[in-house]
Amino acid sequence: MKEKLFKLLHDEQVITEEQYQQALQRSETFGESAEQVLGRMGILSEEQLLEFLGRKFRMPLADWNDYIPDQRALNLISEDVALKYVVFPLFIEQGKRQGKMTLAIANPSNVSVADDIAFMTGCTIKTCIASARAIREAIHLYYPGKVRSPEEAGAQAETGKRAPNQDFTRSGSGEINALLSNILQEVEGEAEEQIEGISGADREHPSIRFLLELLQKTAKYGVTEIHIDPYGHQEYRIRLRRHGSLHEHTRIPAQLGEGLATRLQKILQQADRNVLQKTESTGRHGRFSTILNGANSLDIAANFYPTPFGKKIYLRLQKDAELRTFQHLGMPEKSLKTLNRSLAKPQGILLLVSPPGEGKTTTFYALLRKLAQAGNHVLALEEVDERSVPDIPQIPYSPETSFQEWCSTISYYAPHVLGLGAVEKPSMKRLAFEFASSSLVIVTLTAKSLGDGVCSFISSLFDELDMCCSTEALSYLLDSMNGIVVQRLARTICPNCREQHALSESDHEWLQQFAGVKAEDGDAVSSAGKGCAECMETGYNGQIALFEVLKIDKVLKNLLLQHYPSCVSPVRNFYTEMSPETFKHQLLQLFRNRVTSLAEIRRMAL
Ligand SMILES: [Zn+2]
Repeated sequence: MKEKLFKLLHDEQVITEEQYQQALQRSETFGESAEQVLGRMGILSEEQLLEFLGRKFRMPLADWNDYIPDQRALNLISEDVALKYVVFPLFIEQGKRQGKMTLAIANPSNVSVADDIAFMTGCTIKTCIASARAIREAIHLYYPGKVRSPEEAGAQAETGKRAPNQDFTRSGSGEINALLSNILQEVEGEAEEQIEGISGADREHPSIRFLLELLQKTAKYGVTEIHIDPYGHQEYRIRLRRHGSLHEHTRIPAQLGEGLATRLQKILQQADRNVLQKTESTGRHGRFSTILNGANSLDIAANFYPTPFGKKIYLRLQKDAELRTFQHLGMPEKSLKTLNRSLAKPQGILLLVSPPGEGKTTTFYALLRKLAQAGNHVLALEEVDERSVPDIPQIPYSPETSFQEWCSTISYYAPHVLGLGAVEKPSMKRLAFEFASSSLVIVTLTAKSLGDGVCSFISSLFDELDMCCSTEALSYLLDSMNGIVVQRLARTICPNCREQHALSESDHEWLQQFAGVKAEDGDAVSSAGKGCAECMETGYNGQIALFEVLKIDKVLKNLLLQHYPSCVSPVRNFYTEMSPETFKHQLLQLFRNRVTSLAEIRRMAL
């Protein structure tokens, strides 16, 4: 163990060959511990050791010179927490969405510390290294609650400044020693792995342990995506998507990020040769499950993309409970009736569209499950293997399979209902058309509105079928269409930090213009979340789905024949006449019921 530390220091050229030999000899002769040897022989001071660790973990050293405590930072972390984690909040800056805290930590190999503090404070955390002794002294000196005489404070301040030059064997060496042994374990672990391949103890590997801790924490905060990507050469950035919006959570050393990507990919490969598939569109991807808190199982789809700085990891999280049932979609009454009529038809294409990331996949599976539970034979074909759904056979789309092969595979299953998820490939659209005469085909598509969805689907069918756009051909294609559903997601205000405020004049003007009628009395007031720990400082703590549903009947077909390919506003006007349940109406209702904020409505109305 000692020998390994000396060797590591030697390999990294922290100590010379001569010092290395001396240290080995001395430790053998006197039986002293590694840090005693280094300290007593005057080989390495505490400062030098910290510098070494800083390089090893790519973290800067805390600068205690002329340090002035930041009261706002101190308020965010209690003294107990600081002592428990051996951290000290140096200062805080105001970031775009949340505070950025610079945190001195004693043990950079314990990656969950920064993570825990980030969750407690709602800040993004930038870490730097300091000795445990310097941190304890700073805590003692700067935390309130203990009345100290000016002399005492002055004396301690002086000690603090002198600290880095002291012989590190005196105090705080325990932590540093533990830290070094952690590094050594990692180094040993790597060596072992090269010989034997992946051991069964994957969960104990530091990078995987880090991932599991991250998943554990994020799952309970309703995080749906984790992006772990290289940020320059030095760092990896971890961003979380929660209720539709992505924000930075923390940064980790590049070494850890890269190690995590490599290790996770290996595990997925090991688990099942077929789990990790390589596709053109998604890079490499696979899926795994993990049990959190012994109760909830978390299903995770993992994707790996190469970038110039290293591998990016993209994880999609799905808790068991998140498979919504049809009843829980919260669709307005008239829209629900229209949709049910479409679903009752034995054939035709039902388009399910939304802008990216606005929940169409959840709705897609809710519809398929409802149909399966009603006794239909349902088959789902997905471009990306996003989530596993009980009751429904799912086939992942692979680009190597030819159109003819897909046709025979699907015919073999002879489904009543065929679900085509994330149909961005033209050949998938052709499959939809192929089976529209024998099955109800539910197709998800990225589009913003009713008219946009129908037209872009039809126009890519024209391309794929190599047909020219005559009225007859258009009529023929439209005959295969059954209906269309557009979905949007609005974020709902966090009840924990909700505040009411009067609308500014310009907001009020905008609202009046948007509503198109004289504003109601309550419209002068708006609610919004100011941001708290519950909602990770976003002010929003949930999502609510809005729907527009349209049946494609003779009247609409004639309208489309008349206006194709510029259908967006004719279809919009047609829908507004047909149904009171427009997005605008639903948004205004959410606003007047104080469910969502004006800012959210303005974002969605864009
Ligand atoms: Zn809140």
